[in-house]
Amino acid sequence: MSSTELTLDLRDIHFAMREWLQLGQLGESEKYADFDQDTIEMMVQEGIRFGIEVVFPTRAESDREGCHIEDGRVKVPECMHKPYQQAYELGWASVSASQEYGGMGAPASIGLIVNEALNGANLGLGMFFGLTSGAAELIGSFGSAMLKEKYITKMFKGQYTGTMCLSEPQAGSDVGAGTTSAESVGEGIYKIKGTKCWISSGDNNLGENVIHAVLARVKGDTEGTKGLSLFVVPHTRVNDDGSLGEWNDVSVASIENKMGIHSSPTAVLNFGDNDDCLGWILGNEGQGIAAMFQMMNGARIFTGLIGLSLGGAAYENAKTYAHERIQGTNISNKRELDSQRVSIVEHPAVRLNLINMKARVEAMRALLYYTALQFDLETIAKSDEEKLEKQNMINMLTPMCKGWCTEIGLEVIQNGIQVLGGVGYTKDFPLEQLYRDARISTIYEGTTDIQALDLIGRKMLRNEGALFQQLMQHFSQLITEHKDHPELGSLLNTFEGYCESLYETSVSSQEIMNTRGMKALALYATPFLMFISSVTAGWLLLQQAMVASEELEKIRETEGADNLDKSGLLEENEDALFYANKIKTTRYFVEAIIPQFNALLEGGKKQNFDALDITF
Ligand SMILES: Cc1cc2nc3c(=O)[nH]c(=O)nc-3n(C[C@H](O)[C@H](O)[C@H](O)COP(=O)(O)OP(=O)(O)OC[C@H]3O[C@@H](n4cnc5c(N)ncnc54)[C@H](O)[C@@H]3O)c2cc1C
Repeated sequence: MSSTELTLDLRDIHFAMREWLQLGQLGESEKYADFDQDTIEMMVQEGIRFGIEVVFPTRAESDREGCHIEDGRVKVPECMHKPYQQAYELGWASVSASQEYGGMGAPASIGLIVNEALNGANLGLGMFFGLTSGAAELIGSFGSAMLKEKYITKMFKGQYTGTMCLSEPQAGSDVGAGTTSAESVGEGIYKIKGTKCWISSGDNNLGENVIHAVLARVKGDTEGTKGLSLFVVPHTRVNDDGSLGEWNDVSVASIENKMGIHSSPTAVLNFGDNDDCLGWILGNEGQGIAAMFQMMNGARIFTGLIGLSLGGAAYENAKTYAHERIQGTNISNKRELDSQRVSIVEHPAVRLNLINMKARVEAMRALLYYTALQFDLETIAKSDEEKLEKQNMINMLTPMCKGWCTEIGLEVIQNGIQVLGGVGYTKDFPLEQLYRDARISTIYEGTTDIQALDLIGRKMLRNEGALFQQLMQHFSQLITEHKDHPELGSLLNTFEGYCESLYETSVSSQEIMNTRGMKALALYATPFLMFISSVTAGWLLLQQAMVASEELEKIRETEGADNLDKSGLLEENEDALFYANKIKTTRYFVEAIIPQFNALLEGGKKQNFDALDITF
């Protein structure tokens, strides 16, 4: 293992899948009957291997080469073509796609875990898979039989790629300001006209055709998001027999010269310059934003995954480097001139960076895997009540996955660059690229601030706070069940303090709303998102620590080791070491990391609204 390779924490991944979430239980349902524990584990192992062996070698090369335009069409780096084809042939690009359309039909949680590896291996390539699946799923949910027949299988097989076209120069966060227009020519077909910008995978030579999911306003429809409709707009029209027909008047005006994700072409697209661009409506007029939200919810989880994939890769690189790099002496014997030089992993400051990275990575993994499982449980729910409960959970957790994990992922990579010192800043090591690539994740799919507004405005206030209450009840349940736990009871006590703080914040938010209005409430929306997400991740890590504690106890009993540290068990038994580390990581997260996010709310607690009045 070297500090320039891609490695994933397979032990933590398996622990989460098997021992904590017990994903094999999904195999008991009719829908996922083919996916028992062994099958799931084998799939994940092979998917990760594909990411490391086939995709990862393209990461630095495709970053160096980048995309370019030739004769009006985008060319992606040559090294991406083979892995792209193989990913579709072997099924890794469409793990969770329905078998009806040629996918593996695996649970969403398994798709997410495989994508943890693919994104870490080359985010630009992973984005092609994610966007294409998302656009194909939209057609699957809202398209006519003809559209499904024409496009979906070809998209899930990689023959056609997909995009998501919301942004326009004047409509970024404010999607409702879009002016791209649609005029009916009958039978669900419209003439599309306008410019979309920032379109990821907007054009390319990986597939034969590009299928755009485009938001546009039917002429005469209302302003704002309510007046938007959704259309399938192919770059090249597809004939009824499935062959490619005429060009559909979609042109690439330019591609962006960006900080990172150089292997992902970000295009400005013109639709209908010659008044000959046709779009086929998905669903009904005016339902575009609701339909697009289906894609965006999944896309937001997958954007959150960037934090884990790239942050996780950075942690593994930094950990390995910290063992390899010899520098300085042990701080305890500094004055002795002949002291032996040590690996930097021996220095307390480096250890603090590493535990901050490790704890954040495991917290992101817990939050994302748990959320992905809620999607699966919702799909196989046996009653309306159960379905609603899972939907509520997904609604609350989605802005946390997107907002928190992307911010945290960047912090982790930044810590990693620091652990490497000067070489971390060079292209000889992967961290500078990981940082540049990950930097977009807090911006696209709705910035962190927009996620925070979604959380406090749409999710927290919905049904008089019912979703928030549901989450708080889960926290209380864990506390009640385990507060007398001999090893972790005091940690639950600390955790209970954060829950109280959350509750108090929600009560004072109401007061702020009543006295100072929405602007004052919105001022601390992002700090609130960061705090509640860290508490939620803490809740999940505590669940993991409970499992680890039980398993460790079993090993202790079997091995007859009363005193863990003195028994030598941790050196001899890898499982015992993993469980003991899981407990330490959780303790650090709860005692030292959650308070960092709580502190972000200090201004709000002191009712400091200066930012609203100050002159900039
Ligand atoms: C590399 C890349 C790839 C992209 N891929 C796609 C894609 O595939 N499809 C697509 O449609 N778009 C895509 N985008 C566009 C992306 O979604 C937008 O950049 C993003 O939504 C922000 O919009 P904006 O850039 O116009 O910033 P603005 O909306 O102008 O925001 C600027 C700042 O103001 C803040 N802000 C704006 N409004 C509010 C508000 N109401 N409350 C609080 N803060 C606010 C934002 O948080 C941000 O900090 C991509 C962008 C990039 C850079």
